[in-house]
Amino acid sequence: MIVALAGGVGGARLAVGLAAVLRPAQLSVVVNTGDDFEHLGLHVSPDLDTVMYTLAGVNNPETGWGRRDESWQFMTALKELGGSDWFNLGDRDLAVHVLRTEALRAGSTLSEVTAMLARRLGVRHALLPMSDAPVRTRVITAKGELAFQDYFVRERCRPRVQGFRFAGSRAARPAPALQALMQSGRISGLVLCPSNPFVSVAPILAVPGIRAWLRRRDFPVVAVSPIVGGAALKGPAAKMMRELKLDASAAGIARHYGGLVDGWVIDHADAKLQTTIEKMGRGVLVTDTIMRSPAYSARLAATLVAYVRRLAAERR
Ligand code: GDP
Ligand code: CA
Repeated sequence: MIVALAGGVGGARLAVGLAAVLRPAQLSVVVNTGDDFEHLGLHVSPDLDTVMYTLAGVNNPETGWGRRDESWQFMTALKELGGSDWFNLGDRDLAVHVLRTEALRAGSTLSEVTAMLARRLGVRHALLPMSDAPVRTRVITAKGELAFQDYFVRERCRPRVQGFRFAGSRAARPAPALQALMQSGRISGLVLCPSNPFVSVAPILAVPGIRAWLRRRDFPVVAVSPIVGGAALKGPAAKMMRELKLDASAAGIARHYGGLVDGWVIDHADAKLQTTIEKMGRGVLVTDTIMRSPAYSARLAATLVAYVRRLAAERR
């Protein structure tokens, strides 16, 4: 069993590749829920939905969020009625938020709702929220502390970042299926998807028990750098690194994670950073990491799975 930790876009792109090369019994995708929020009375889980839609093949590849073949009658009517329109919800997308909210209100857990929605969309691999308890990412900026979606969508990531807080994390527990995996001894490797280290991966690692589990692991952790050629392919990861006075490069990312990661997969564009990362005591594999299509994702995933198996064999 391989466990993948994922945020939204970068996470989904690699997850769909892993799902193409691993059977359902061989892959569990654990997704950040620090972006979740209540909007218009609905429980919205942006990263879970991005990964779910991508695994189901119904995602919108242009935006990176929402569904393809979407219509916007709801938003038009909402605007006409003076409703709050800063966060876009497509008509088809809306059905997911309504069903999720209804099931949560009736007492289902986020894990149960996610499994139900994923199954109905035809997803066969396990898709798990990091936790069933609410964990909410807060961005500490020069303009004060902001809820994640206020920073990300309303403020378009403009405020200068000073730090992060994951409200609710202390009381949270890993989702039951993740806890079962953590105790199973059946994990052969963990993949860190090329997701934002601060607002996609850090909230997962902030769930009590997960860091300690990774520290005492007997399986390798392999990661794909979300920074390619000194830039993020999408989103504020590189901007955040600069504002936090970190080196916004694949080497800076490797330094940030330290001993948590055994092997780095970096892009050909960053080949010159290989020795720098190796000097940190980490393994490095250089390949194409830009996932332009599901075919690119599957090829990168196959390379990663082979790398995991090689590192696992070297441990024995
Ligand atoms: P979000 O929740 O939608 O912001 O998505 P993630 O945190 O999962 O992913 C954002 C990160 O994914 C950014 O830093 C991007 O540079 C990175 N990313 C997106 N697509 C790719 C890709 O094809 N290859 C690599 N290496 N990184 C990617
Ligand atoms: Ca996200």
